[in-house]
Amino acid sequence: MYYKLEPKFGKMSIPQYITNFGSFNEMPKPFDKCEMNDFLNKFHAYSPEYIEFRQVIFDGENIHNGLHTIHIYYFHDIAFGLMTEYDMYSNKMKLDVYRIGCKHDYESYKIGRCLTHYKCKKCGYEETIDSSD
Ligand SMILES: [Zn+2]
Repeated sequence: MYYKLEPKFGKMSIPQYITNFGSFNEMPKPFDKCEMNDFLNKFHAYSPEYIEFRQVIFDGENIHNGLHTIHIYYFHDIAFGLMTEYDMYSNKMKLDVYRIGCKHDYESYKIGRCLTHYKCKKCGYEETIDSSD
């Protein structure tokens, strides 16, 4: 249940920064709670490559605790899960944000005057950044 946001068909490949993709009722791992600002910092500069909908049951919960509605935004090097829930006490929707994927520990190599190659020591994710533009 995911959508490629390009005019391409087919399934997404599981990003390298995810160690356990999980099922429709699980969070991809690793994950941690974070602030909305963490998501907005990424969202401000990049578009997600995929958006996926899941109904997650957290470890230790059963179905009676509820299914948590989460939209997962997969960016090139990180994903964020936005969990929305109705709060019956305030009669308002509330939002929790999760950071999903490796907390990268990059090594960098200069490969040109304005080109730097980064490789994560933990998950192996690599990218080259051109700082000239
Ligand atoms: Zn990493």
